[in-house]
Amino acid sequence: MTSGIQTILEKEYHERSDIIELLRCSDEEAPLLYRKAAEVRDRYLGNIVYLRGLIEYSNLCGKNCLYCGIRRENRKVEHYTLSNDEVIKAALTAYKLNFGSIAIQSGENTSESFISNIEGLVTTIKKMTDGRLGITLSLGEQKRETYRRWFEAGAHRYLLRIEASSPDLYRKAHPDDEMHNYYNRLECLQTLKEEGYQTGTGVMIGLPCQTLNHLADDILFMRDFDIDMCGMGPFIEHSDTPLGKNGTENLFLKERFNLTLRMIAIARIVMKDINIVASTAMQTIQSFGREKAIACGANVIMPNLTPERYRAGYRIYEGKPGYKEVEEVNVSGLNMDLIPGTAIGLGIWGDAPHFNKRRTKS
Ligand code: SAH
Ligand code: SF4
Repeated sequence: MTSGIQTILEKEYHERSDIIELLRCSDEEAPLLYRKAAEVRDRYLGNIVYLRGLIEYSNLCGKNCLYCGIRRENRKVEHYTLSNDEVIKAALTAYKLNFGSIAIQSGENTSESFISNIEGLVTTIKKMTDGRLGITLSLGEQKRETYRRWFEAGAHRYLLRIEASSPDLYRKAHPDDEMHNYYNRLECLQTLKEEGYQTGTGVMIGLPCQTLNHLADDILFMRDFDIDMCGMGPFIEHSDTPLGKNGTENLFLKERFNLTLRMIAIARIVMKDINIVASTAMQTIQSFGREKAIACGANVIMPNLTPERYRAGYRIYEGKPGYKEVEEVNVSGLNMDLIPGTAIGLGIWGDAPHFNKRRTKS
């Protein structure tokens, strides 16, 4: 008997209704979807996982997203910003461990001192690693000029999640003001592309009021936008935020985890040659969550290199692991027995092949 989703999986091009069908597939059918996604990854990118050493630069944020634990109005947050020495030390650890790339992430800050400090850090890290360490930034919405300065300093990838590609759903998860404007965020993504970055976006899965139709549209949004990288993860309530104050049911988290695996697999099948992150939030919900995401087509992980004493401060969602993840004996922290045949891409940037194709097209 041919399974219901088998015919869809064999298609070259997927319509919205196909994507909804795949999102809806039963737990019995899901392994077919996952296997197909892993096959596509292996064919287009190889069975290799690339590492981005994550440096959480500062938990000071000017914004107030309704879901995020480090939002401006959460007065319980004890603020920190890493010193330049701490950032450089973490970057050199990544270099020494042969990570290939780092990712600098932070609460949003648009002050000139922040901008020039990041510019200086990127320049220094590039110089100290002979240009060999790749640099991804995830520093929120900024002006074109700022993106350009950071690119010229040596950053070459940027992650800015659209969070929800539906303007309506976006509105429900953010305060209704100019600072949290869907169209500004969209414009930033466009600017990043124009300025030459490998551009990544993604959404949270399991936001209140989100439906499977929204999720299917998120996939189509990413395909139409022609993204190079995708970072998606389950929404996890934080009790000190408007969207998290009523807590959650574990069952919902499990469902969100499974739905995220489906989203990752579908993203891989629909956008074959992009980079897809297995997010730490997956690991928070289930042990070996990242390995499961890799088995469903993801190919990038971001092991945390933030100095340990600051980890608790960067709690964007509850239960975020604060323990030491990176050890010299196993730099990825992955249990490789669970993902047989997979290799870690040491010492390489691991850019998405999609980016080069996109550039040669235009
Ligand atoms: N300030 C930057 C980068 C740091 S936040 C920005 O917002 O782009 C990085 C990501 O954390 C966000 O894009 C969001 O998708 C995710 N995040 C925030 N709160 C979360 C929560 N409660 N559950 C899951 N992911 C969350
Ligand atoms: Fe700030 Fe990013 Fe959290 Fe929004 S998601 S409050 S911009 S850190």
